[in-house]
Formats: sequence, structure tokens, C-alpha cells
Amino acid sequence: KTAIWWVRRDLRVEDNPALKAALEVSAEVVPLFIADEGSMRLDAPKRIAFLWNGLRALDGELRKRGSRLIVRSGRPEEVLPAVLAESGAQAVFAEEDYSPYARARDLKVGDTLPLRLSVGLTAQHPVAVVKNDGAPYTVFTPFSKAWKALPQSSPAGLLANTRIHTPQGLFSEPIAAGAEVPGFPAGEEEARRRLEQFLAQKVRDYHDGRNQLDEEGTSRLSPYFRFGMLSARLAAAKMSESARKAASKGAETWLNELIWREFYQAILYHFPGVLKQAFNPALREIAWRDAPADLAAWKAGLTGYPVVDASMRQLAATGWMHNRGRMIAASFLVKDLLINWQEGETWFMHSLIDGDPASNNGGWQWTAGVGTDAAPYFRVFNPVLQGKKFDPRGDFVRAWVPELGRVPEKYIHEPWLMNLQEQSAAGCRVGRDYPAPLVDHSAARERTLEAFRASRLRW
Ligand code: FAD
Repeated sequence: KTAIWWVRRDLRVEDNPALKAALEVSAEVVPLFIADEGSMRLDAPKRIAFLWNGLRALDGELRKRGSRLIVRSGRPEEVLPAVLAESGAQAVFAEEDYSPYARARDLKVGDTLPLRLSVGLTAQHPVAVVKNDGAPYTVFTPFSKAWKALPQSSPAGLLANTRIHTPQGLFSEPIAAGAEVPGFPAGEEEARRRLEQFLAQKVRDYHDGRNQLDEEGTSRLSPYFRFGMLSARLAAAKMSESARKAASKGAETWLNELIWREFYQAILYHFPGVLKQAFNPALREIAWRDAPADLAAWKAGLTGYPVVDASMRQLAATGWMHNRGRMIAASFLVKDLLINWQEGETWFMHSLIDGDPASNNGGWQWTAGVGTDAAPYFRVFNPVLQGKKFDPRGDFVRAWVPELGRVPEKYIHEPWLMNLQEQSAAGCRVGRDYPAPLVDHSAARERTLEAFRASRLRW
């Protein structure tokens, strides 16, 4: 028997339930990636480059096992029947994806074709983590308790020696040569290496180091989870083991972050409408400012608030941003500039190599204070205090905002406080070499609280 393994966002051989299911019932497996217009024409050049690099790496892994990746362009409902006919395959195996786009696509395909879905995007399926009455959780802590109480399915092991037989003679389009994505070589081998290195070195201090902008205290695995180059269940199993063995607070904290990912995937699964509007109906009528120049300044990292600008420039240059930076930059757009969080959500989806509709939407709604288990709307990050706390010497700011390179530590998060003499000494005239603050934080905060209160009253 022959089966198609339809690769979507599970670019790995190790611990891959869809591939395993295909191998269990078939002597021959056709690994197939469909470059479909709906998902490949996304306005996200860095993420698409990372995806193509990942596909090349996957092809390499498959070749080690005697197989190869077949790539075809077109719509799945047209490509799949063609490859089924050409290869004589009887079934299509794939990993279930929870975004509304993916679910609509799979419903359509499954209507006429033998599509078999496996759980692999998350360690637990969203319908497995629900309240006793079957209702979904909308608050993180009880969700995480229920998640941890479930039996963990054990990883399927490395298919290192498993040969994958693939029929000869199937046509494949060339795998596009994506641009390099500095700092993030694609592929499951790199993902495993990062996980092992993180476990060996950084996990112990993760609970302390994870918030520091000036340290590399986190795993930087998010792009690998985004495209399934690492299995969430495998990572969770390794981390639980590490937490048990070393009673490590760091490992427990990291696992908790991974559960945030599971939580947002579950929210998107149960409430797909969050991609269109705020989860909290009382906060859907906020009178946002239409301020294209301010939005452009935020995107370019020219707001005049150093920690916001450094974070935004890190994003533009690398396609990745530290979680603390994401929270500070997102809060600034929404609470200081009073610009619709959806503008920020779109910009992040454009820029991030780990851009994921569930985590990104969840992060934005949380920061804006309009989502499920959100920060209260009246909690507003102060960008100066955040900078002082999480980048105390200003190293992170100096690394990304060279104009501030010679500004003394005392002023690095509020350069506008320098007098003219100090500005000359630092080679940075505020308003000329680096922008003056776009808004006064205290006044902006009041303006925003008023707009949020007004929406609640209207509701
Ligand atoms: P680590 O600290 O090493 O965490 C391990 C893993 O846990 C991460 O790789 C990630 O998969 C998961 N994780 C950690 N924190 C979160 C979180 N708050 N929510 C969901 N999952 C989490 N993450 C994305 O993967 N894609 C996004 O598009 C995305 N957009 C975000 C937008 C905003 C406004 C905010 C505030 C957060 C967003 N996050 C997103 C979550 C988080 O910032 C990143 O997952 C994290 O910074 C990735 O770095 P890391 O791999 O070093 O994380």
C-alpha cells in the first residue's frame, strides 16, 4: 500500500505522528509539500524564507532515509488527487492544524479525499483540555492545571534507522532557494541541538533570566515550533523529565511557557473569531486613533523611547523579538499611541519568523487587555521603567540603536533628559540624531484609559 504524507507545518521526521501513522499502514510513503497560494503568498518574506530553508533541510533528512520531498504548487484540492492518481496512494496523512484557514481547507479536502489527521501541533489536542462540563477554559491557570493533569503521550522516538520507501519517478518542482535567515538555521537537527544546549546550559536560570533583554536567557526555539521542526510533545517530555530530575524551577517555568502556546492554540480552536475582533465584547468599541505617521515611526523604531525602538529594530533586522520586547513594544502601540492592536498584530505577522496566528493574536490581545486571560486594561507598561528594569546598563538599547551608543547609562532610557552639553558629549542631539519622544507617557496613559472606559460604557 502507498500513502501520502502531506507536510504542512510539521517539518520533521522525529516524533511525527502523521508520518508514523502513514508508515504503519503503508509500505510506500510520498512526502508531499503543496505550495498553495493561500499560505505561500503571505506578506511575510522572512518567515517564507525560513520555511523554504526548512523544506530543504527536511528533504535532506528524508534522503538520509532513502526518500525525498515532493513539492508541487497549486491548490490542495487539485494537487492531492493528481498525486494520489500518479502514485497509486490510497490515503493522505497529515497533522491537524487549528487555524480557521487550515480547518476550512481540511474540511474541503476531507469531503472528497481520504484525509486522516493526527495530533502533533500541540502536545494535547484542544478538545482534551476542557472543563468537566466540556466547556473550553478561557483563563490560563486552570487550563495549565488541567493540561498537567492529563497523561502525557510519549514521543514516538527517532526514526533514525527507518527507511522510508518512496515511489520512483514522481515529479517534484525544485525547492526554492530561500534567503538565509541569520541566527536561525532551519531544520530539525538545529532544533534538537538548540533544545539540548538549552537543557544543558540555560534552563537552570530560565526563571530569572527569561525577562532580561540584555541576556540570551531564552531558548529561541519559537520559529522551530512554528513549523514543527521540533515536536511540542517531545520538548514537553524532555522538560518535565528535567524538572523532575533536577527539581529545576527553570524547567518548570519553561514548560509553563510552552503551555501558554498550547493555551493560545486552544483559544483559537474554540474561538476562531478572535482573529477578527477582541475576545472581550466590552472592548470592541474603542475609538482608536488614525495616526499613520505614529504607526510608521513605531514600525521603524523611531518613537523616541529607546527600549521600544531597540525591540522594533531587533524585529526588523532578525525576524525575532524577545518576549519582554514584544510586550513593551505592543503595549506602547496600544496604550501610548492609542493605535488599534490589530495594526500591531498584522505588522508582527509580516515581520516575525515565528509568526503564528494563535500565539501572536493571544499576545496582542493579552497586552492590549482585551483578550481571554488578559492583563487588566488599566495596567500600562511604562517604557522607561521597563527599560531600566530589564536592560539596566542599556546594553540591549545600544546594540540596536547605534545613535545612542555613547549615551551614559544614567540617560540611556530617557535621553531627552540630557542637557545640551551632555547631548554634545554623547554625539546625540535629541530631535536631530535620535527622535524626541513621540508622546508624553503620563498624558498618553490617561488618554488611553479614557478611551477604554468609554468603550465599556458604550457597551
Ligand atoms: P522561550 O522563552 O524559550 O519559551 C519556549 C517556548 O514557549 C517558545 O518557543 C514558544 O513556543 C512558547 N512561548 C513562550 N512564551 C509564550 C507566550 N507568551 N505565548 C505563547 N507561546 C509562548 N510566539 C510565537 O511563537 N509566535 C508569535 O507570533 C508570537 N507573537 C507574540 C506577540 C506578542 C505581542 C507577544 C507579547 C508575544 C508573542 N509570542 C509569540 C510569544 C513569545 O513572545 C515568543 O513565543 C517567545 O518570545 C519566543 O522566544 P523563545 O523561543 O526564546 O521562548
